Amino acid sequence: MIEIGKFQISRVEEVVLDEDPSLLEQFDHDVLARHRDLLVPDFFNPERNCFRTMIHAWILRTPDKTIVIDTAGGDDKDRPLSPRFHMKKTGFDTRLAAAGVDPEDVDLVLLTHLHVDHVGWNTKLQDGAWVPMFPNAEYVATRTELEVRDPERGARDRPEASWGPYLDSVKPILDAGMMRIVEGDETLMPGIDFVPLPGHAPGMMGIRVRDDGKEAFFIADAMHQPIQIHYPGWSSKYCENRDLATETRANIFRHAADEGALLLPAHFCGPMCGYVRPTSDGYAFEPPAVHP
Ligand SMILES: [Zn+2]
Repeated sequence: MIEIGKFQISRVEEVVLDEDPSLLEQFDHDVLARHRDLLVPDFFNPERNCFRTMIHAWILRTPDKTIVIDTAGGDDKDRPLSPRFHMKKTGFDTRLAAAGVDPEDVDLVLLTHLHVDHVGWNTKLQDGAWVPMFPNAEYVATRTELEVRDPERGARDRPEASWGPYLDSVKPILDAGMMRIVEGDETLMPGIDFVPLPGHAPGMMGIRVRDDGKEAFFIADAMHQPIQIHYPGWSSKYCENRDLATETRANIFRHAADEGALLLPAHFCGPMCGYVRPTSDGYAFEPPAVHP
């Protein structure tokens, strides 16, 4: 667990995945050789020639609220276009309970963006219907993300098979009246602010948590691997607008280096998070002393 003043940060793992090196198209064996100490073994598996990617949910506790940030891939979901998320039994719900999180006690579910690997546990299958996993929570998503994923609006021209995450994991929350729609630039409560991070997804928001002179910044998929700290211009193959993602990432690195903010991306293995330290020719990655 990591403490930022009165806030406590931990996480619940869903799965660790092999990720083909094509995740970052400029990555090659010269880069691996140059940055081997950073990458192996936490972030790259040389035997299988793949990046290691984790999917997990962050748990943020305030003195009186339990907040879940993003809800991983989910179980029992029909995902014909995403075999990695198709009809899974991940055991995430059991690990959530083991981490001391009773779904009934969760007050807020913050959705940084609405990609398949961030909304799955919004709902669970019960008697053939998708019902909210966190029955007493207010879910929060940005207006832009809700618009672009909605099959009746922004996703109309996308393949029908891609509508699953919206239809089984977002729409049931909207239908239940449990979704709070935000712009992604507001203050949630004292010490917790939303920050627009467009690029990877058009309406993606980060969550900045500050207290006692310390800052933790949940940056979702603004970066996927720490090697991007050395190459801020590298966007992942999953980024919807790579130029915008690059601009957003550069802003994040500058901010993190200036403020000493702890960055918490959505998919890091190993230490799961880290600092950006200025060097003579750019930035370097520094893992935290305590892992979440
Ligand atoms: Zn993601």
